[in-house]
This record gives sequence, structure tokens and C-alpha cells, in this order.
Amino acid sequence: PVPLKMVSACLAGVQCRYNGQAKTVPLLKDMVQRGDAITLCPERLAGLATPRRPAEIVGGDGYAVLDGKARVYNDCGEDLTGAFIIAAYKTLHILQAAGIGEVVLKEGSPSCGSREIYDGTFSGTKRDGVGVTAALLLRSGIRVYSEQTLLGDSQPEPVLSKM
Ligand code: SF4
Repeated sequence: PVPLKMVSACLAGVQCRYNGQAKTVPLLKDMVQRGDAITLCPERLAGLATPRRPAEIVGGDGYAVLDGKARVYNDCGEDLTGAFIIAAYKTLHILQAAGIGEVVLKEGSPSCGSREIYDGTFSGTKRDGVGVTAALLLRSGIRVYSEQTLLGDSQPEPVLSKM
């Protein structure tokens, strides 16, 4: 049998993004509907509401947040660092309990981004870096892909054959 994967819920059609919308990738939605993947939304697991104010990591990336060297704020200046760290650990614990070692996470998110995130200035500017949940999963040995690496955007890794 195909090993079970986890997919960011918003990529599989769940309307859990900050703006109340999904960012559906049909291939991933199909994977979930076939029963080959489960969906999780780290930020919803931490109890954040949908819709919610957009959040960005200020002062570093997800690794820096885990290490206490950067923080997560929304665009009203509310400090959401604790919720984002809870989101990461809840996600990790569910994956470990389910024996899931491979995930496809939404690129660009302060939780799920695995190659790029927004730079903390709320100006729509991206920078290289990982989100908080992605950082914890990577540190814990989970294989993390994004919908962009999965779709062959700029990664040589033949991810599709493994999915
Ligand atoms: Fe939830 Fe991650 Fe999608 Fe954000 S990117 S809505 S945290 S699954």
C-alpha cells in the first residue's frame, strides 16, 4: 500500500486560510479523496479562527521562532507566537501518532511554507525561509514538500513518482 501522507488542508479544498478561502490543488484533493493522505491545518489545530488577520514571522524564519529568536504577529500587531508554536507541535504529534513521514505543505505560509515566507513587513514581500510548522517537521525528520515542489515548479526532485 501507498504510505499515508499529510496535505495542508487548504490545498485539498478546505476553506481554512486566513482569508476564508482554500487554495485547491486537484491532484492533492484527489489524493485525499482516494484515502492516500489526510488533511491538517496547523493554525486551525491551534484554535485560530477562520477568517483571521494575516500573520507573518518578524525577525527570522520558523526555525528562529522555535528557538525564541523571532516572533509571529498579525497585521494588527497581536503576538501569535505561542499559537504558532502550539500549531507546529500539535501537527507533529498527530503525524507521529499516525506514522506519517511525508507531507505536502502550502508554500508561503508562516506555518506551512517550506521555501519562502513573507518578510514580516506586511508589504507582500517574500523572502527565503520556512514557516514554523514546516521548521519543526523538518527538524523532526519529516519529509516536507510544497505544492510547488510537488508540481515541479523549480525542483529537480521527482516528487510525483513518490506520491
Ligand atoms: Fe492552514 Fe497551513 Fe493552509 Fe495556513 S497554509 S490555512 S496553516 S493548512
